[in-house]
Amino acid sequence: MTNTSVTMPERKRIALVAHDHRKRDLLAWAKFNRESLSRHHLYGTGNTGGMIARELDLPVKTFQSGPLGGDLEIGARIAELKLDMIIFFWDPLEAQPHDVDVKALLRIAVLYNVPTASNRATADFMISSHLFNESYEREILDYGARLKIELD
Ligand code: PGA
Repeated sequence: MTNTSVTMPERKRIALVAHDHRKRDLLAWAKFNRESLSRHHLYGTGNTGGMIARELDLPVKTFQSGPLGGDLEIGARIAELKLDMIIFFWDPLEAQPHDVDVKALLRIAVLYNVPTASNRATADFMISSHLFNESYEREILDYGARLKIELD
């Protein structure tokens, strides 16, 4: 089995997602880290991405809202090797109508070895790592299926 290495660029492509009860936490974290985040490409599910763009006055590419398929769009971008990092503050106390989509996103993030923060402490450790602003060789385990890395 051979692992595949994918280069994460210095300027990362970061997806931001928060369930409704966690949006305030994510916004507080993003505001505190606005300067660091401004050096990267930001993406988000509909409402979260819109909130970050508006409140931080930064460009954010938005996907559909989470319940309408936004989590799956982010998952697809991960499989296409077009996203490098996820900050996903999901709600540990409330079931979501799109729980299966959330599970799919978290599974694909593990499979593709994508750094994923589900709470503020993890997000703090990630954003304060020197790797946040450096290129990084991300190893993707070969589970037996050959990874296709030549995508359009
Ligand atoms: P939203 O979606 O940013 O559009 O609210 C988040 C989610 O529920 O996954």
